[in-house]
Amino acid sequence: MKVTDHIAQANGTLISLMEFKPAFINVTYHRSEHVFKKRADGTFEKVIIRKRPGTESICAAIMNKYTVDTVPHLICGGFSVNETEDALINLRYLGIDNVLVLRGDAAKNETAFEPEPDGHKYASDLLRQVANLNAGIYLEDDLKGTQKTEFCIGVAGYPEKHFEAPNMDTDLLYLKAKVDAGADYIITQMFFDNAKYYEFVKACRAIGINVPIIPGLKPVYSKKQLTNLPKTFHIDLPADLANEMLKCKTDEEVEKIGQDWLLMQSIDLKKNGVPVLHYYTLGKPHVVANVVKGL
Ligand SMILES: Cc1cc2nc3c(=O)[nH]c(=O)nc-3n(C[C@H](O)[C@H](O)[C@H](O)COP(=O)(O)OP(=O)(O)OC[C@H]3O[C@@H](n4cnc5c(N)ncnc54)[C@H](O)[C@@H]3O)c2cc1C
Repeated sequence: MKVTDHIAQANGTLISLMEFKPAFINVTYHRSEHVFKKRADGTFEKVIIRKRPGTESICAAIMNKYTVDTVPHLICGGFSVNETEDALINLRYLGIDNVLVLRGDAAKNETAFEPEPDGHKYASDLLRQVANLNAGIYLEDDLKGTQKTEFCIGVAGYPEKHFEAPNMDTDLLYLKAKVDAGADYIITQMFFDNAKYYEFVKACRAIGINVPIIPGLKPVYSKKQLTNLPKTFHIDLPADLANEMLKCKTDEEVEKIGQDWLLMQSIDLKKNGVPVLHYYTLGKPHVVANVVKGL
């Protein structure tokens, strides 16, 4: 079932965590990494590393085991357009109705994102390929026996602006281009100040973006994150939250403050009628579980 159908049929705000019968679960995509291994003769060999199950397999396993809808993330980085088409055909075969379409970040050895020679540069380009497949348009005109796919397509939005965008207005116009090209809903980057989400939704509505905008939420649970999260995700942590955390003596105290903050954000968002509370668990599912129990 599609994310948008879940939203349309819901009686209230949906959540996404197994214990609480989530409507759907997102599975991120991590592109393969390469390392250079030294050979006996002193030269180096490039080796691609990917020692974990892929996004497709995890989605299929979740659906099999728990009968919950999944949303695999699909990125431009590392994929040619042909590989993307194959991935989409596989997803359809597995009965997966949803994809979250993203560009992906620069690979570890790159300073800026570089598309594959025969790959997509922006999420909107990838999105057009998915929309084409939904219209029955495959890469090869003469492919026999093709069928239309029916993917529900999500895209990313940034309440605090994507870090490469020159300004918020330009970023919003590119977001609108993704919606105009067929995105059914938006999931936001994490934010820690709900006012930023509300302002973002208002700005989106003002330029004619009318699809659901799902807030992305994440707990802060260590002092290190006070510097790591802004550095990695280009977001701000409010002074009240940061100051409280800096006073903490133990990790447990920090985690408790992060949990209370997330609960406060979640209660407020739910009260304001957001369609879904989407949590990035990132290795700390118990914190998110405590928050959802408190809702
Ligand atoms: C909810 C969420 C989930 C994520 N999951 C993953 C994941 O699973 N795997 C992963 O690798 N990464 C993931 N990311 C990170 C994401 O890949 C990065 O934030 C990436 O840098 C941008 O992706 P995008 O889809 O927003 O890109 P785009 O929409 O392509 O935008 C990238 C930048 O280009 C600009 N832009 C867009 N279109 C154009 C255009 N036509 N011309 C010029 N500029 C343009 C935008 O303003 C922006 O600055 C996720 C992010 C979010 C918010």
